[in-house]
Amino acid sequence: MRALILSDIHSNIDALEAVLHAAPAYDVVWNLGDVVGYGATPNEVVERVRGLGEVFVRGNHDRACSGLIHAEEFNPVALFAVRWTQQELTRENMDWLRELPRGPVHPDKLRVNCVHGSLQNEDQYILSLRDAQQQLEASSARLTFFGHTHTQGGFVVNPDGDGATLTPIYSSHDEMDFYEFQIRKGSKYLINPGSVGQPRDRDWRAAFALYDSKAQSVTFGRVPYMVQAAQIRIQRAGLPESLGTRLRLGR
Ligand code: ZN
Repeated sequence: MRALILSDIHSNIDALEAVLHAAPAYDVVWNLGDVVGYGATPNEVVERVRGLGEVFVRGNHDRACSGLIHAEEFNPVALFAVRWTQQELTRENMDWLRELPRGPVHPDKLRVNCVHGSLQNEDQYILSLRDAQQQLEASSARLTFFGHTHTQGGFVVNPDGDGATLTPIYSSHDEMDFYEFQIRKGSKYLINPGSVGQPRDRDWRAAFALYDSKAQSVTFGRVPYMVQAAQIRIQRAGLPESLGTRLRLGR
């Protein structure tokens, strides 16, 4: 089974279509949340991902934009986008967002976790080795896919004699489009596919990952897309200009 793993699409239909076009062949799609928020095409993105499969976890922007949580703690730009998205979403798409499950979900039986933030807290950012270590100790699954940080990469803990070593996994090297690695027996992984629609790892290209359960491999992918088209949509929608400029900067 080959799973295309998407996260943090953030209402960016241009980036999503580019990923779906460029991704290697896949059987299923696993979506790690933040389908909406920030970008200018919430309905288009919701309707597209709804047709791609059934494995979803909700993100904090999905909860805010569908009215499940108040967004007062969001920064002013994010809050503006939440309010705009609430006005824009159709009733049906808003209801669909509200029903998205909280992670973790286990699409490949108990061997895989899918979360937005972390296993215990859907709003937690896993950024440091220390955060990663806590997660890997708490998980019995070999693979945990997470999003929320908009940073492609992850962490692996390898059994190592009498202890274990934890190391970061870097996704892209220079301008590589694909980076594949093998899942080692006895190791546990935390893997972030990166953000489709608003990368923040200083690479503007749309990010995704592909998990192959038979080959026991993970591939990180990056694909260029029409950033300018997404920026024009943001401008025409009357959303804050910074939401467009940051797309080109990848941050
Ligand atoms: Zn996000």
